[in-house]
Amino acid sequence: MSTPPCTDTKLELWFGPRPDATGRTPESRAEHKFRESRAKSICRSCPLLVGCLENELVRPIGHQFGIVAATTAAERRDMIRARRAAALAVAPVAAVA
Ligand code: SF4
Repeated sequence: MSTPPCTDTKLELWFGPRPDATGRTPESRAEHKFRESRAKSICRSCPLLVGCLENELVRPIGHQFGIVAATTAAERRDMIRARRAAALAVAPVAAVA
């Protein structure tokens, strides 16, 4: 089994720096974007990407943190909502068949 490249990196790359005593994150918007872009880039070369994303998409909304499977937490929440909406849209057809 392959070792995912994220295991060889600092957690900060995936989740950002710890907030300071005031709750603020010492990361500018540009630094934030750059960090997320770097993390996503690492994920895109990961042999476990597809399975990693599938594992994330079965989590309840609100349990998404940091960059995982080349997506942000907000992007994964959107994907989960889209999947749920799609499942509801086909549910009546499946019930008739
Ligand atoms: S796809 Fe998942 S397992 Fe692979 S590097 Fe990204 S977070 Fe780690």
